[in-house]
Amino acid sequence: MRTHLRIGRLLGVPIGINIGVVLVSVLLAYTLAKVTLPTGAPGHMSSSYWFAGVLGVIGFMASLVAHELGHSYVAARNDVNVSEITLWLFGGVAKLEREADDPGAEFRIAAAGPAMSFVCAAFFGIGILLTRRIDVSPVFELLIIWLFAMNMILGVSNLIPAFPLDGGRILRAWLWRRSGRRITATRTATLWGQILSGVIAVISIIAMWRSSFISGVWGLILAVFLFVASRLEWSASRPDPTMLDWEVGPLGRQLPNPLASSATVADLESAFGRSPGSPLIPVLDQHGQVSAVASYEVIRKVPPAQRRVVPITSFVEPIWSLPRVHPSETITSVRRRLGEGHYWLALITDGQTSGSILISEDVDQVVDSATA
Ligand SMILES: [Zn+2]
Repeated sequence: MRTHLRIGRLLGVPIGINIGVVLVSVLLAYTLAKVTLPTGAPGHMSSSYWFAGVLGVIGFMASLVAHELGHSYVAARNDVNVSEITLWLFGGVAKLEREADDPGAEFRIAAAGPAMSFVCAAFFGIGILLTRRIDVSPVFELLIIWLFAMNMILGVSNLIPAFPLDGGRILRAWLWRRSGRRITATRTATLWGQILSGVIAVISIIAMWRSSFISGVWGLILAVFLFVASRLEWSASRPDPTMLDWEVGPLGRQLPNPLASSATVADLESAFGRSPGSPLIPVLDQHGQVSAVASYEVIRKVPPAQRRVVPITSFVEPIWSLPRVHPSETITSVRRRLGEGHYWLALITDGQTSGSILISEDVDQVVDSATA
């Protein structure tokens, strides 16, 4: 069942709203028009409170979208596509199509949302200064102050280091950079998410009795939401030592179509362009057999002006010079033989057929998941 509506596109990203947001918007407009604004700026007509209340909801939703657009813009600049921005009960979610490639990108994407909220807060802060200088309705002035405060709260609360909040993602990026292991970092950050949601729950329960019952309820709902979300991510990143006994065969990357022996360095360059995931391009010999491979290094050795005329034959390496692994060999055995902690490439072959290449980083990723 579709639980959200598409309301349009911004900067090429589809924007959707969860049905629950409609309900929350009505509640929010009601609270602003009936409680917040009349208490802060009494003595005005009911219609002006309602007008300001609706304006406030629109301003708040726009602030949520701005926060998510901050994430989306930086994600796109780091080659991570955003499939949709959805507004939920607790704010927005920018759905990324995949994980960031490295901790630096993860950090930038996570930090961009709160940074955008602080930019919005600064924008409304300037608004507050302007309303002091020009004569505007106290209701409107109060509304601008409220929007300033909401953006500050959005920025600060998202920085709580509880995964999957932005602060938790920043924590994961930091742990990932320190250890070089994404899965381990995810595990630690999601564990902190669970611990902090417990802390938020306790504080909320105390608040329910000691000060504001309703803020305590909201805090408790947030704590439950955070706990469930971080618990799910934590379970998904659970280590599985049996993965070390996996056969390496399925981990191989297929080699792209081979180049002819007469190919030039420019041909090699476009072959890598067509298959960016491939570490090597196979090269045919005079008999039409794949007998050699060329790495990206070859391109770096030849100046751009000469690439169209220089043949690759003098740079290729015989394919049998690569270390060989049998497809049924286990990850543990391959690592024992070829080493860990440094880059290597191996040809996966059963003695007769060959065609895929095993890269150390693909093996390391499985090991990371197995031993997090
Ligand atoms: Zn965010």
